[in-house]
Amino acid sequence: AAEIAMYRAKQDGRNSLRFFSPDMQEHTQRSLDLAVSLKGAQNRGELFLVYQPQRRLSDSQTIGAEVLLRWRHPKWGDVSPAEFIPIAEQTGLIVDIGLWVLEQAARQLHQWDLLGLPKIFIAVNVSTIQFARPGFVEELMKVMSRVGVPTNRIEIEITEAVALKNAEQAGTIIQRLHAAGFAVALDDFGTGYSSLSYLKRYAIDRLKIDQSFVKDLVTNQNDQAIVNAIIHMAHSLQMTTIAEGVETEEQANRLKELGCDEIQGYWFSRPLVSQDFAVHLRG
Ligand code: C2E
Ligand code: MG
Ligand code: MG
Ligand code: MG
Repeated sequence: AAEIAMYRAKQDGRNSLRFFSPDMQEHTQRSLDLAVSLKGAQNRGELFLVYQPQRRLSDSQTIGAEVLLRWRHPKWGDVSPAEFIPIAEQTGLIVDIGLWVLEQAARQLHQWDLLGLPKIFIAVNVSTIQFARPGFVEELMKVMSRVGVPTNRIEIEITEAVALKNAEQAGTIIQRLHAAGFAVALDDFGTGYSSLSYLKRYAIDRLKIDQSFVKDLVTNQNDQAIVNAIIHMAHSLQMTTIAEGVETEEQANRLKELGCDEIQGYWFSRPLVSQDFAVHLRG
């Protein structure tokens, strides 16, 4: 008999039941344990945020930060987002957690403003499940007005998968995000089923060039050609470009030569806890 794991997933404000067959979904005992534990993680204070600086290449200024979720479990230690974000999505927990991330990030911006630090923006990752929910944009706006930070200080990062899975509504939702004042970035660009037609259709502000193209950029002619093409295409469509996963000065220099606008990566900073980010911003 197939072993069936059952969770209660809170979705659309009501409780719904979800069934997972371990062999179908390759759910291990660990992912079941994680799913159960993640539910209480937020209340127990195990979730926290880190901020990774984004640097403009023309003047080396930090102009923004990507906020990244962290989970430190008392017994298991740090659980990677690559492992727990999919679980948060499958259980529906990502909806509440996602709003919490935005609210914390907005409060953090407010605090840095009060300290007189340079006015940056924060990029927030959004999952398909959040994006496709009715009232998604309104919920984000509610959080922003509650905190009292203008929406133009927040960039919403979606992946190509998010855009494609909701192909019909995606354009409308992106339009609504813009009308509300948010910026929109396309994350991990080049790794999905890149359909160039939606770049024209959707009003995207920024392309995030995936780190897989940056890794061997200095030595690999094909990667240089691809990155060059992405940057030119983006610019001719009035979008800016940021390269992810920049780990060396050589990569940064090459990206600057290719006309890339901004970079993010371990070369100049890992994701930082808020206190360290404030120190970074002070310069
Ligand atoms: P992502 O949005 O593409 O985030 C970039 C990832 O690259 C982060 O991994 C970051 O720590 C890592 N990174 C940054 N610079 C470098 C570098 O120079 N070299 C290398 N090798 N890696 C670098 P992280 O924090 O483990 O997050 C993984 C993914 O989890 C994110 O990918 C994003 O898809 C998801 N995620 C993280 N936080 C959230 C969140 O709050 N909400 C949602 N929905 N997803 C999140
Ligand atoms: Mg991202
Ligand atoms: Mg990315
Ligand atoms: Mg990624």
